[in-house]
Amino acid sequence: MRIDLHCHSTASDGTDTPAELVRNAAAAGLDVVALTDHDSTRGYAEAIAALPSGLTLVTGAELSCRVDGIGMHMLAYLFDPDEPALLAERELVRDDRVPRARGMVARLNELGVPVTWEQVARIAGEGSVGRPHVATALVELGVVPTVSDAFTREWLADGGRAHVEKHETDPFEAIRLVKAAGGVTVFAHPGASKRGRTVSESVIAELAAAGLDGIEVDHMDHGDGTRVRLRGLAADLGLLVTGSSDYHGSRKTCVLGEYTTDPEVYGEIIRRATGAFPVPGTGGA
Ligand SMILES: [Zn+2]
Ligand SMILES: [Zn+2]
Repeated sequence: MRIDLHCHSTASDGTDTPAELVRNAAAAGLDVVALTDHDSTRGYAEAIAALPSGLTLVTGAELSCRVDGIGMHMLAYLFDPDEPALLAERELVRDDRVPRARGMVARLNELGVPVTWEQVARIAGEGSVGRPHVATALVELGVVPTVSDAFTREWLADGGRAHVEKHETDPFEAIRLVKAAGGVTVFAHPGASKRGRTVSESVIAELAAAGLDGIEVDHMDHGDGTRVRLRGLAADLGLLVTGSSDYHGSRKTCVLGEYTTDPEVYGEIIRRATGAFPVPGTGGA
């Protein structure tokens, strides 16, 4: 039984449509595939409609989280996609652009800069508003000579005086929300140090104590030493161990089923979940 529990579609940043993803998963010889788009369940209906017989779909998502200033991803499986609190949090993460830009305007006002939301919205026009538009407003007001001069610690650079961080979920809150929606949580690629700072083992222990179900160990961003270390940590903390491709279609080099999850672990994930059941394929459209 070949089980791949981490795949993206065009519902987030993958290049396969959800229908293409499940067809490609069947063609790759998988028995179980999970659809885990970033902060989105938008692909479920299309994937289910196209699901080939012999392939089982696990519905899920990969939630954008941040703890102690460190970004991290939390896989969530088989939660109820309509549960209101978790749904609201996913929308907050996805629809964060306007509140974030408004927050930067407010910080600038506190610093004595007379920028207005109307001005920033006018500069953004039809595009989705972001930091460059706030920076352009600072140029218009003569606060800085060029847009790049606004991207400094004095103004809008990461950690700058008027910078507002993207909204990302506290992972302890994510665990609580997913559990309340009947789902199971697995910390995605916890040792992926190429992406930036990683969460410490002591924080992983705290997450385990807060109800984290497992950690993803077999992943393309983990070297052999990292896998050995994480397997030991999982054993110490009583966490499930998963493996998965983190497939993004042609956006990344990994292939479906490149890493897989042990059927016993998969069985335990299904046993713990109460928010949704895996969907068996019936032939597909
Ligand atoms: Zn990720
Ligand atoms: Zn991913």
